[in-house]
Amino acid sequence: MPRQVKEDLNKELEDILLELGADVVGFADVSKVVRGDIAHLRTAISIGINRRLTEKGIEILEDLERAVILFLRKRGYRYLAIPPDSDRRKDKFISRLYPLFSHKIAATSSGLGWIGRNGLFISPEFGPRLSLATVLTDAPFKPGRPIEKSLCGECLLCVKFCPAGAIKGRDWSVNDPYGEFVDTRRCNEYKKRMRAVHGKPNCGLCINICPFGRNNRTVTFDTKKEVYQCQSTG
Ligand code: SF4
Ligand code: SF4
Repeated sequence: MPRQVKEDLNKELEDILLELGADVVGFADVSKVVRGDIAHLRTAISIGINRRLTEKGIEILEDLERAVILFLRKRGYRYLAIPPDSDRRKDKFISRLYPLFSHKIAATSSGLGWIGRNGLFISPEFGPRLSLATVLTDAPFKPGRPIEKSLCGECLLCVKFCPAGAIKGRDWSVNDPYGEFVDTRRCNEYKKRMRAVHGKPNCGLCINICPFGRNNRTVTFDTKKEVYQCQSTG
């Protein structure tokens, strides 16, 4: 039976999270994705901050998740917080839960963005620069409109300029959520070579080059082509 959504719940929680430092907050109906013991947690709350997933970034996201938990617990709803660095904790017990849910699924399903040709989550406002956390719940939030296909449009910057030639140029869609967009072996080999030469562990060009979220760009949505367009403002 369809649940009665409570729109004021969305606004109340969103206001709290934005006040505490979140940059984006979304709500998604994930009933088709959650399985097994967590099948009752049919809504995902997706939280993004405009900074890298460093120790400090993880700390901020965990604080935001705690605020969500407090909010839900007070109202008697059930929840499961997925750790922000879930994909890095392969040796932990909680890692057994990770295959059940990904932050990218929560964020795209809530309409916060899409998966770019560089395989990263892209927000129209912040580009590939958001770090994400997710809380699953049975609370009746109103879900956002999901984004179901890549909105990179005609941009091929990351594909053309990846120094390892690792980005395949494929378009993401919700029907192919786990498609391989990046040849990780090539990417890792390149980064290893660079580390040996420059002592720097990362490349990051596919983040830096993405026009979405850069300061000197404005982003508009082309309703005819259904893609976002980036324009330079200086
Ligand atoms: S990190 Fe560098 S080498 Fe790896 S995919 Fe991105 S641009 Fe290519
Ligand atoms: S650089 Fe262009 S193609 Fe690559 S992810 Fe960003 S918008 Fe998409």
